[in-house]
Amino acid sequence: MKCTFCEHELTPEMLREKGCGGCLGGCRKIHCPYCGQENPIVPELLEKFLKDDKHKA
Ligand SMILES: [Zn+2]
Ligand SMILES: [Zn+2]
Repeated sequence: MKCTFCEHELTPEMLREKGCGGCLGGCRKIHCPYCGQENPIVPELLEKFLKDDKHKA
């Protein structure tokens, strides 16, 4: 997926398990490392991410 702000490519690896660390309580968003924009993760991407993770393990 792409950042909605700067259109840099974002990968599921940028989503941290326990939230982003920048928001209290944690969030399920990807914070773009380039511009800091929060991008809500799309269900399809999250699903793919979880599947890939299982596959590796
Ligand atoms: Zn960005
Ligand atoms: Zn956050």
